[in-house]
Amino acid sequence: MNPYANHLTEALPRVQDAIAEAAVRSGRGPKDVRLVAVTKAHPNGVVDAALEAGLTDLGENRVEGLAARLETKHRDRPAWSAVRWHMIGHIQSRKAATVAQIADWVQSVDSLKLARRLSAAAGDLGRELDVLVQVNTSGEDAKGGFPVQEALEAVHAVTDLPGLKVQGLMTMAPFIEDEAVLRSVFAGLRGLRDRCRELPGFGAGELSMGMSNDFEIAIEEGSTMVRLGTVLFGRRPT
Ligand SMILES: *Cc1c(COP(=O)(O)O)cnc(C)c1O
Repeated sequence: MNPYANHLTEALPRVQDAIAEAAVRSGRGPKDVRLVAVTKAHPNGVVDAALEAGLTDLGENRVEGLAARLETKHRDRPAWSAVRWHMIGHIQSRKAATVAQIADWVQSVDSLKLARRLSAAAGDLGRELDVLVQVNTSGEDAKGGFPVQEALEAVHAVTDLPGLKVQGLMTMAPFIEDEAVLRSVFAGLRGLRDRCRELPGFGAGELSMGMSNDFEIAIEEGSTMVRLGTVLFGRRPT
């Protein structure tokens, strides 16, 4: 028996309810928030369980991790064709070509150099890549993304690049418990997204914010995409 299947059977309905209720509290509906299931660092059984449960948006934070998923037997399953892979972690520019090939969404566009490389690679492949511009809302050096003050200009620059469709913004909030601070971080990103909407070429206006510890608050503040690992699959093996 796949332990991830057990865990997910129990956890997913709870998480989906929590997402739906938070969406309603924010004046929206359950379908307005997309669940990206973060499979990173777990063995391949996690993908089995996710496909079985009908999850279609899956996230990995390392290029090698994503590439390895694509080499598994899962590719032969019918459910696989509906899967969208989200790259959510920092990408070294030299790996941009690989990412443009294997990711459906790149949520972690954190430098113009990376954006240009992804743009060129997507162009070579004749595809348009859905991307989010990552914003460092916590100011912590360990977290990636453009500083808040530079983000609007960065989004502007990335929307000008061919081969990339800037669908919105992504952030990782600081790891703190203080709800008021979290709310202001999330609301700040929402405000920035609203300003980005005035830029030509800015897409759907997605807001990828909210992880296992803060997703309900993020949704209440307007998140359209939550990236959840631990609440769905348990702790990652270390
Ligand atoms: C690991 C990761 C997540 C998921 O974190 P959980 O706390 O396990 O939900 C979300 N976003 C990013 C960028 C991550 O690296």
